[in-house]
Parts: sequence; C-alpha cells; structure tokens
Amino acid sequence: MAVIDNPALRAFLSKLRGELVLAQVLVRRRGARFELRHADDRSRKSSSLKVTRIDQLRRLAQSTARGAFRPLKSAPNLRAGWKCLVRSAPDLETALNHLYPGALADWHAAQSPKPPITHYREFTNRQTGMYRITQKLSNAQAAEVIRACCGHRFCLKRRYWTVEGLEPDSAAGKSLIPCLEPCAVLLEFARKTMRIEQEVRTRLALAPSELRSVVAALQRVLAQPDSEVQEADMNAPLNPRRIQRLLQALQQRAQSQRESESDSS
Ligand code: SF4
Repeated sequence: MAVIDNPALRAFLSKLRGELVLAQVLVRRRGARFELRHADDRSRKSSSLKVTRIDQLRRLAQSTARGAFRPLKSAPNLRAGWKCLVRSAPDLETALNHLYPGALADWHAAQSPKPPITHYREFTNRQTGMYRITQKLSNAQAAEVIRACCGHRFCLKRRYWTVEGLEPDSAAGKSLIPCLEPCAVLLEFARKTMRIEQEVRTRLALAPSELRSVVAALQRVLAQPDSEVQEADMNAPLNPRRIQRLLQALQQRAQSQRESESDSS
C-alpha cells in the first residue's frame, strides 16, 4: 500500500472504515478504491447513476440541479444522480477538494489542540474598504446575521468561530466540515445588514394576527425560494438570508407579544 504523506488525508482514511458521509457526499471504500455519490442516492442502483470523472466534479459542484450558481460549496444543494469511482487515496483527496474545497485540511486542523479559528471581531477588524462597515454591527446584530446566514438551511459547515453572546454550532444538523472563519457570503451579508440598519425606519404597528400572517408568509417564501434570486445577491429583497433574518426578528416580536398577552390575561 502506498505511503500517504498528507496527515489530513491519513487521518481521514483512518476514520473511513466502510463508509462515511462528508456533508452531502457518501464515500465508500471499495478495497483500495473508493466510490463517491450523493448521500441521497445511497440506496439507488449504481447502474442508474451517471458516471462522473474526478475532473468533472468541480463543474458538478458549481451549480444546483436548477442550474443556479452555488457560491457556497457547503450549501445543502449539491446535485444528486452521479457517482465517481476513485482509484487511490490521493485521488480521493482531489475529488473531495473539488466538491468541498479545503474540507479535509480544515477537518484535520479543527482536531488540533489549538484550532486556527478567527472569530467575527478579529476577522472584521482586518477588513478595509467597503467591508470595514461590518465592524459597526453590535454583538447582538452580528449574532442575528450569523444565525440567519449560517444555519443548516443554508450551510452544512459547523461554525467554530463566533461573536460575544453567541455559542459556536453544535454538531446537530451540521457536517464534519468545520468553518474556521467567516466566509465571503457571511461578510457580504453583514455589510448589507449594516447598510439596512442605517436606513431610516418606518413605524408599522401590527395586530398579533397580522404579525402571524406576515411570519407565515415569510416561512412560505423560505420554503419555496425564488429560483431567480442568486444566493449571494444580498441586494435582492427576496434573498433567502435576508428573509431568514427578518423572519427571526418577527418571530421574536411575536413571542414577546404572546408573553405580554398571557401576562395580562
Ligand atoms: S461563515 Fe457561515 S455560511 Fe459561511 S461557510 Fe462558515 S458556516 Fe457557512
């Protein structure tokens, strides 16, 4: 058997006994070889899956089944219906890097006694130009942004970094891939949120039933996202992360209303 130089790959192989799921990819050992397929295709007949070469995986990971660009490769919308047969451990690393760039290295780094984590403040304090504004979000506002941006609905990486007042992600609902510092999507969402926070506000008084209707409508929009809206386009009012953040704020308000109603009854 060939000696594996890469410690991250070596550690990953020692964890991979029969099979292992990395985010949405099922990796199975086949003797000295490996088979990769979408985890949703676990029970599908191998002959029904499209044979995909390693060098085609990067392209596969670029777009969703509907053809929309995937700015975040850890988003839970990897296309299904394919299989990739890999001949060696180094080729496995190449294949996984096409699907989840840097995942093995980050997974390995996260297990070190002192993982290289960059928290929100440290990360945004380094920003210049148009992203310097992200420093202005309060801890509570940054926490709202992070909750809306990084939840399992949008990203399968497990967030290790944080901001004061917010816990890192637990393993529940997340994958083996760690997130060690804010990504470009988070940064852009934080920038847009700060711009929204600076807008002049309109006062809108809603009866509890009206508030419930708005919450239900936003939930419906999130369940059936507009395929025309690009995930990374934070200027689009129907951007799913913007809807998620608004929904969180309104759900909190609905909860406070319910509590004050039950206090006064
Ligand atoms: S910052 Fe959030 S959205 Fe971006 S990769 Fe990390 S966990 Fe995912």
